[in-house]
Amino acid sequence: MRQPRIRLICPVSLDQSTLRAAASGLKHFERAGVLCESVKVSEEVIKGVKAGPFLLRAVDNTKGIRVTETNFKITLGELLSLHRKDIFGIGITNAPLVQLVNDVDERRVGVSMFNRGALVSLARINIELSGEERENAIKIAIAHEIGHIFRKSSEEHCKTTNCTMQGVDNFTDFVRRLVKPASEFCNSCSEAINVTISSLMHYA
Ligand SMILES: [Zn+2]
Ligand SMILES: [Zn+2]
Repeated sequence: MRQPRIRLICPVSLDQSTLRAAASGLKHFERAGVLCESVKVSEEVIKGVKAGPFLLRAVDNTKGIRVTETNFKITLGELLSLHRKDIFGIGITNAPLVQLVNDVDERRVGVSMFNRGALVSLARINIELSGEERENAIKIAIAHEIGHIFRKSSEEHCKTTNCTMQGVDNFTDFVRRLVKPASEFCNSCSEAINVTISSLMHYA
């Protein structure tokens, strides 16, 4: 049996309070049996990380990241087992994330892909929130996006009130529905996350 691993990949200049807030978003997964670690971004730390090259570019980015379908896709090298990658990476960036939705550029707090990886942007959180609310927003954004890495479900998001896996329409909605009520994973999302984590342990 082997423990699944999550590596939180942070910008080099990240301050302690942000790092602490981000690391607290890993707690749920740590309790569920995932080995979690926080590191500063470098060529070295993306080795063995799924979608590592994308996360390296994104965490380092200062201008802005355009999110596309292919960001977290499996590479040919991985597919042919030339480069074995079994660490789930979650990147943090100070740059804005922008995704084209119905021909309109939308700014996103985070993006993720099941069984691959995730990325969270602090751009709006840092501008619009402060103090405890800002730290809580970072924690919840991290937990939500990692939730997507492990939560297999027919619905992309959860409909349970105050669950961290609820879908949100925009940043204001994110703050109102997930951050202010200090959301947690509901029982059914916790269960779905746990099922994936145990299957990874047995598969290894
Ligand atoms: Zn989501
Ligand atoms: Zn839920």
